[in-house]
Amino acid sequence: MLKTDVLVIGGGPAGIVCALTAKRYYADKKIMVMKNVENSCVPCGIPYMFHSLKNPRDNFLSTEPLEKSGIEVYIDEAISLDRKAKVVSARSGQEICYEKLVLALGSLPIIPQIPGIDKEGIFPIYKDLDYMTKCVEEVRNAKRVLVVGGGFIGVEIADELSKIDGLTVYLLEMLPHLLANSFDSEFAELVEKKLSDNGVKLLLNTKAVEFIGDKSVKGVKLDNGQVLEVDKVILAVGATPNTKLATDAGLDLGRGKGLWVDEYMRTSDPDIFAIGDCAGKRDFFTRKDAAVMLASIATAEARIAGANLYRLRVVRENKGTIAAYSTYVDGLVLGSAGLTELSAQREGFEIVVGNAVGVDKHPGTMPGATRVMVKLVFSKESGVIMGGQVAGGMSAGEIINIIGLAIQQRVSAVELDTMQVATHPYLTSAPTAYPIIMAAQDAMSKM
Ligand SMILES: Cc1cc2nc3c(=O)[nH]c(=O)nc-3n(C[C@H](O)[C@H](O)[C@H](O)COP(=O)(O)OP(=O)(O)OC[C@H]3O[C@@H](n4cnc5c(N)ncnc54)[C@H](O)[C@@H]3O)c2cc1C
Repeated sequence: MLKTDVLVIGGGPAGIVCALTAKRYYADKKIMVMKNVENSCVPCGIPYMFHSLKNPRDNFLSTEPLEKSGIEVYIDEAISLDRKAKVVSARSGQEICYEKLVLALGSLPIIPQIPGIDKEGIFPIYKDLDYMTKCVEEVRNAKRVLVVGGGFIGVEIADELSKIDGLTVYLLEMLPHLLANSFDSEFAELVEKKLSDNGVKLLLNTKAVEFIGDKSVKGVKLDNGQVLEVDKVILAVGATPNTKLATDAGLDLGRGKGLWVDEYMRTSDPDIFAIGDCAGKRDFFTRKDAAVMLASIATAEARIAGANLYRLRVVRENKGTIAAYSTYVDGLVLGSAGLTELSAQREGFEIVVGNAVGVDKHPGTMPGATRVMVKLVFSKESGVIMGGQVAGGMSAGEIINIIGLAIQQRVSAVELDTMQVATHPYLTSAPTAYPIIMAAQDAMSKM
């Protein structure tokens, strides 16, 4: 039997950051990270293994920072948990006894139950470098590839595949638009145009109903009757929290699919924490369970859990997730935080929307200047910002972070209108035409 003070199961972003944080706060404790994948990937880098990273193995997620900090890394799979005895059993037969347990089990790709789904050549996304490298090698040698799912992962992969010479790329989405959960249609249309211009064949409002072929996939039947010949398929239809180990041990789920946790990431067992994709999330505005899984949220939760394992040292109010994220499609950057116009309306909020289009340098004739489009969603009565979307060049990646902070701080349209900003011709929009300010002014004119 192995013995440790803190056992972290899962070596993804959440597990790594939690173990490092715990070492900082509790230097005298023995900490072990247990992971079932020997060579992990940087998850957010997976799409870029297909083209941008010439050697897909460059997307390796190293455990060196753990080892350098004196944290033991143990490769094995946890298969059961005895909470009373505080012992985790591993696939190898080994048992590990802990004082505090952190579940950082991540998520598993959703495999849609479509006939023929288990044929060779159909790849769900697993965060395993050896598996993904094989997938990339096969896809790079293919003639026709279908990507199923038009969320940000499917979009990023389709964009990468469009750069591979001689490859025909189809992107299938059952909703009327790509990125429909995080962007209103006018933003989604920018991505759709970009991908179409780059040769990706978009199939919106369309579902796969059967994969055909013998042992290996040869094609796909669609619900409109069309049959496409394809030799590889990438599945990017979402992920679900990996909770079986925990629920088998009697830990509670929230109202959604993730493990129930309190403000400090404690599960229903006070000595067991859950963080990252396997832990439940709440929406910032409604506190309803939210199926948001992002590395940025996972690492924030990991820091909270790591600091609070033995004593509550960092006081926190879990304000819920605003699902802030950005994505990149061949030079076009899109960012979203909080509610879209559509999601706010669906939830029943009375809102006002402000729009602005500007340029991210001044004068707009400066080298490298890019058009930037900002949309802000405000509560009509209280004037508080509830969401924002941005599309533009590289600067959009940080513009959305300004909007994200404004949402978290419940900033009003008036405060945005009077916001103090640093501006410079090479670096930002003009002080006279700053898109966030202009979008706030547009909304105020309608309040
Ligand atoms: C293609 C792709 C692109 C993404 N891009 C972005 C992005 O740009 N920005 C962003 O914020 N997020 C992005 N995400 C989401 C992000 O990857 C996840 O939110 C993040 O990985 C969650 O971290 P985690 O540590 O909770 O879980 P994971 O990264 O899923 O790690 C969990 C680990 O636990 C291991 N494990 C599970 N069960 C056991 C067990 N029983 N025993 C031992 N080990 C176990 C797993 O093998 C895995 O290594 C992307 C995801 C994907 C798939």
